[in-house]
Amino acid sequence: MVSHRVQRGLLFLLIVALLAIVPIGASAQTEGDVDRAEGQVERAEGNTSQAYSRWQQAQDDLEAAILELDIVTSRLENLVYTIGLTESRIVTYEDEVGALKENAQQLFLEAYTSGGRAIVSAAFEAGTIQDLLTSQQLMNNAASRDLADLDRYQAVAREMGRLKVDLVAQQAEVEVVEEETAAAADRANTLSEQSRTVYNQASAAEQAAIDNLAKERRELQAAIALKKARDVAAANSKSGTAAGLPPAATPGFYCPVQGGASFIDSWGFPRSGGRRHKGVDMFAARNTPLVAVVDGRVKFSSNSLGGITTHLYGGGTTYYYAHLERQPTNISSGQVVKAGTIIGYVGNSGNARYTSTHVHFEIRPGNVAINPYPTVRHYCP
Ligand SMILES: [Zn+2]
Repeated sequence: MVSHRVQRGLLFLLIVALLAIVPIGASAQTEGDVDRAEGQVERAEGNTSQAYSRWQQAQDDLEAAILELDIVTSRLENLVYTIGLTESRIVTYEDEVGALKENAQQLFLEAYTSGGRAIVSAAFEAGTIQDLLTSQQLMNNAASRDLADLDRYQAVAREMGRLKVDLVAQQAEVEVVEEETAAAADRANTLSEQSRTVYNQASAAEQAAIDNLAKERRELQAAIALKKARDVAAANSKSGTAAGLPPAATPGFYCPVQGGASFIDSWGFPRSGGRRHKGVDMFAARNTPLVAVVDGRVKFSSNSLGGITTHLYGGGTTYYYAHLERQPTNISSGQVVKAGTIIGYVGNSGNARYTSTHVHFEIRPGNVAINPYPTVRHYCP
């Protein structure tokens, strides 16, 4: 019960934490993610609360069974107590009857000794000693004190007979109630096992919900990080600044040129036909390997300006490598590769054919180019 409340509290904390990291009025790019996450949270919460209400129902059934067991058990206890009382009263009466019987026998002897023939004939007529003791003849011969004893004897004997009948009835009832108690204990045990099973199911559902929320949260954080990167990119292209991305927005990034390269921040530099430079030119020896900066899908192609080129699509961002000498032969266009995989070699193809060998490298979050210099500056040796 306690651990279930603790876990449930944990689930709500996770939900609150998840919702807290979602900015209100997020852009269309993360709105879908937020809706999806909220839907997941609601479903997880629904599954968990359904599982717990099943458990609550099982717990209620168990409590009812235990109450029933408690009632039957206390009936049994009362009965055993009553039987104890009856038995001790019978013992007391037996003692008293013994004493009274002695008195009566003494009375009979005295009556006989005093020569009452009637007593003797009464003794023959009486079926039992009790009949004799209560016979009129004996009464006639008894003193008033003795008569009181005889009355008392009869009363006690009657009461004792009644108690013995009660005792038999009570002992019979004990057997019945003992059977009821055993049946109630069986029911309580069965329900207890059922309750445990349902509780385990509820716990498992809750754990699954917590795991799912944690996964949603990671995905949502990634979506928000990407959105921030795009916001920065958008701000840069609007203001014309060359800020690029902060390193926090590009965790695990690889320098595109294996072993590093020489380069400057040439973002926005004028180019032929009124174009502006939308990348960074990284100078290195011909055939220096170029690697995937992140995990992604590669596309090999060529065009007149870029020459032999490789596009890498990873995490919603396009990375563009141009002026390549060649593309690798062990990878085909369209293949998914891990960060660090060789996806081209430095050259001077395209409109770079009269310059030193270099790779023209671009970063385009959401296909909008941003200044790649701060990023490669951070990651390249
Ligand atoms: Zn360039």
